[in-house]
Amino acid sequence: MARSKCPACEHHEFEAVHVTTPKGHKFCLIQCVNCGTVVGALDDVKITNVIKSAEKKLSKFLENLNRKVLTVCSRKNNS
Ligand SMILES: [Zn+2]
Repeated sequence: MARSKCPACEHHEFEAVHVTTPKGHKFCLIQCVNCGTVVGALDDVKITNVIKSAEKKLSKFLENLNRKVLTVCSRKNNS
């Protein structure tokens, strides 16, 4: 996968800056850490949803992993 770079200074690190408009609409700007060039904007609500779904996936993965480990352990005990 190609590495993201700033169009202005070619820096590789970006940060998310939360912004609230006077009307109360929240969104998030993705900007270059080095020079502050804004490379993208995201809806704050969407980010929250993305994080939530990622959390769900991760907890399911850990659950499955725990089950597998438990199965392996009980098999060892039985033999
Ligand atoms: Zn930059």
